[in-house]
Amino acid sequence: MLNRAQIFSAIDALIAASEVSGERFAVLILRVPGLREISLRFGYSQGDQAEEMAHALIRQSLRPCDEVFRAGDDSFIVLLPTMLNANHALLAGTRLVQAFEQPLNGTASPWLVRPVMGIALHPEHGPSADRLCRRASMALDEAQRRGELCVLYQPYDTQIEIFYDELREALDANRLRVFFQPIWNLQENRIAGAESLARWSSPHHGEVSPANFVPFSEQSDLISVLTRWSVNTTLRHVASLPLSHDLRFAINFSPRVLSRPGMVEQLIGALEIWGVPPTAVIVEITETTLVNDLEMSVQVLRRLRDHGVHIAIDDFGTGYASIAYLRQFPATELKIDQSLIAAMNSEPHTAKLVRAIVNMAHHMDLTTTAEGIEDQHTRNLLVDMGCDFGQGFHLGRPQPALDFIAQFGSIGTTP
Ligand code: C2E
Ligand code: MG
Ligand code: MG
Repeated sequence: MLNRAQIFSAIDALIAASEVSGERFAVLILRVPGLREISLRFGYSQGDQAEEMAHALIRQSLRPCDEVFRAGDDSFIVLLPTMLNANHALLAGTRLVQAFEQPLNGTASPWLVRPVMGIALHPEHGPSADRLCRRASMALDEAQRRGELCVLYQPYDTQIEIFYDELREALDANRLRVFFQPIWNLQENRIAGAESLARWSSPHHGEVSPANFVPFSEQSDLISVLTRWSVNTTLRHVASLPLSHDLRFAINFSPRVLSRPGMVEQLIGALEIWGVPPTAVIVEITETTLVNDLEMSVQVLRRLRDHGVHIAIDDFGTGYASIAYLRQFPATELKIDQSLIAAMNSEPHTAKLVRAIVNMAHHMDLTTTAEGIEDQHTRNLLVDMGCDFGQGFHLGRPQPALDFIAQFGSIGTTP
């Protein structure tokens, strides 16, 4: 942030004023992603002009008491005093979006840009300038993730700030647990293995979903620690099974971890230590990986596959790179995302799409696993389509690894 001191002192002044008046105010961070592109395409002087215009558009849509600051190449911070409630702040956001519905005419050719913004409110979202700016920034990240233009900070994000030390400590002290969710061979109607899913009961937050702590740990070194923990804990349980078992265990890998040096050696080393054959393990990678990571991941995964480990593309059908993945990825199976499976009953065209995915996968020598099977009808449809494996609450919920082993250690049961 360019003039952070200036912005922070303006926010401090609003905090002081609100202590007297009891009034709410909002900190809005606005990013105009197209601005940078104007500089790149038309030159820096055009870029500067466009930035001036953007500044003017923002100013025009605000009240005289509001303040605007530049906060970086393509970002602005707007302070909105005397907000009655959250809707009042969102309304200001909507006005800003509307201001940008006209092209920026100052440039060589009129250029349309779309702002994205995040909003935090005082007092509910933070007591200090630092906290408010960070939370508005988190809301902006969330807006970009969701493809929305304006997002209000959600208090559940507060977990993120307290997470690092807590999660690190929980990992170091081995206080996370591994759950196994059964995976069924749909065609032969028998247990085929399980997916390993991390569970964290935090003394402060209760049960924290991996959907929260995994993305968070991906932002730091914690993802390596989490993955190492998950590999070792899963393999320790697998090693306790009778040697004759023919179950396969899926472990989730973040693409960020895959591109770290020594990853393959670590996994292979762990397989040797626990005496687990590589063919008993499936490495799951989500399809939403950044394309940037693709080349590196492909190399790493190819080495794992050469070693005998199975590779599954997780959540297939939700990402944007499905076809590119299929062309390049050394995958051995596709896991069809639960959003598609859940919609099959009510949407005949989605059922057709799933059938087509199963056929396509088979043509490419990939096996298919349907995620999120919640009822018998969906299961029947999938059996009929020739889908190989299935997973979902109808077939078995994630359960403590020891319970799974007690139930399925001696194989052959039906659900
Ligand atoms: P995933 O790999 O796609 O795992 C499947 C998720 O779907 C699990 O959520 C599971 O509980 C849930 N699920 C299974 N069957 C059903 C169903 O019938 N209906 C519905 N609605 N949901 C079902 P969970 O355990 O919350 O995990 C969320 C995600 O977090 C996982 O998605 C995976 O990407 C990630 N994750 C979990 N454990 C780990 C881990 O140890 N390491 C890494 N890197 N990621 C993990
Ligand atoms: Mg998975
Ligand atoms: Mg999945």
